[in-house]
Amino acid sequence: MAVDAELLEILACPICKEEVRLVDLSEDRRTGVRDKYREKFRGEEPVVEQGLRCVKCGRVYPIVSDIPVMLVEEAFDGQ
Ligand SMILES: [Zn+2]
Repeated sequence: MAVDAELLEILACPICKEEVRLVDLSEDRRTGVRDKYREKFRGEEPVVEQGLRCVKCGRVYPIVSDIPVMLVEEAFDGQ
């Protein structure tokens, strides 16, 4: 499971418009994001391993089943 490198290049933090970098999420974060998205995935278990961290503000946007969720309200503070 990996986010396409080309896609990664065009993604940016919606607040800072700065680049984001792949980071591994802690087990707690993974569990939290998984729990949150399980309902939206209609029974399919969401795959959560990594996130995208803004180089400027440090917010982390989760990647759920290879889909980067670049929404401010879904972001959390970087570890
Ligand atoms: Zn940012």
